[in-house]
Amino acid sequence: MTKKFSTKNAEGKALGFSTLAVHGGEPRPKLGNSLATPIVQTATYTFVDTQELHDHFQRKIERDEYGRYGNPTQRVAEQKLAALEGAGDCLLFSSGMAAVTTAMYAVLSHNSHVVVTDDSYRRTRQFLTQTLHRYGIEASVVPAGDYQAIEEAIRPTTRLLVSESPTNPYNRIVDMERFAEIGKRHRVKTLIDATFATPFNQRPLEFGIDLVLHSATKYLGGHNDLLAGAVLGSEELVDGIRSLQHVTGAIIDPLAAYLLVRGLKTFGLRIERQNANAQALAEFLAAHPRVKAVHYAGLPSHPEHEIARRQMRGFGGVVSFEVAGDLEATSRVIDACRIPQIAPSLGGVESLIEQPALMSFYELSTEERLMVGIKDNLIRYSVGIEDSVDLIADLSAALEQA
Ligand SMILES: *Cc1c(COP(=O)(O)O)cnc(C)c1O
Repeated sequence: MTKKFSTKNAEGKALGFSTLAVHGGEPRPKLGNSLATPIVQTATYTFVDTQELHDHFQRKIERDEYGRYGNPTQRVAEQKLAALEGAGDCLLFSSGMAAVTTAMYAVLSHNSHVVVTDDSYRRTRQFLTQTLHRYGIEASVVPAGDYQAIEEAIRPTTRLLVSESPTNPYNRIVDMERFAEIGKRHRVKTLIDATFATPFNQRPLEFGIDLVLHSATKYLGGHNDLLAGAVLGSEELVDGIRSLQHVTGAIIDPLAAYLLVRGLKTFGLRIERQNANAQALAEFLAAHPRVKAVHYAGLPSHPEHEIARRQMRGFGGVVSFEVAGDLEATSRVIDACRIPQIAPSLGGVESLIEQPALMSFYELSTEERLMVGIKDNLIRYSVGIEDSVDLIADLSAALEQA
């Protein structure tokens, strides 16, 4: 008999985060008595006879049918994430953006309206204001953290409120309780892209948020070797999105699902280290004469530090800061760093560094970038799990040299 690992202890209490990261969602025993989760690399599944086909379609038995509708390796990854997030269910996708687009197609329809905060992922905003706009769906973009603006933007046709927390790249924090309350009062669903926080640092569903979204490419995978996205929420909501995924097909492949399960084993260790490294780096930067501003929710100077302390267990691994100098001087600081490598993305074990003005916003002019709040002297540092003394010494030398 195969049993799913229980997420509760003998007294009925929820198990700790790292215990769930290692064991959650995994059946016991597994196929072939394997300790590791098998990669079920198949496109389709066979039926022994026509009776089994009848039993399957009449839902008398639980089994797989075709690769686009699900895979055993995918299911383990989904149930592990659901256990970590405290969600009714989880659905995985081929990328974070596949999760965003399919979830939005599922929740929205012609003539409906969305409110999205301005500091949210650029491609999410682009999908809403450009692609969905062509299908008769309207989006209002409001300033992050302005709850009155969110409320005023709500119309009778509004179906979804979307925000991120912490946001990219400024680490703004949304008050989850307040955001969820606005949604509930207006009978509008709320969605939080919690990629930067991860379920270790923040669990939006506990504050009444309806849907949580992650780019699992980042902290959940954690090793910069896979692309995946996740949507979590009640069984009912996730079920609706799953039905549409069966049509749109943006599924996670079995190998990526395996890598995600593998990466999640060390999730608790990684994120604790990344929280600590980021805090140390932020404190170092805040005291540095060549640094004009540091955007990290773990610093008391951060505008939403108190909200962050209330609703988060740690403040994440991304530190954004502004150096004294122009676009070129800022590039020189980045080029003088020897440990973090220049790359988009974040959340992996390797530290990565980037100048948003020259990465995600390259094609815009300085003026256009300023309109969307991206300064030329801004650096985004995604800390890995290296030793913080090395990261600080490296950055210190880079700031002196540049
Ligand atoms: C990276 C990212 C996404 C998109 O995820 P992909 O896996 O790259 O498709 C969405 N939201 C946030 C906050 C991200 O950082």
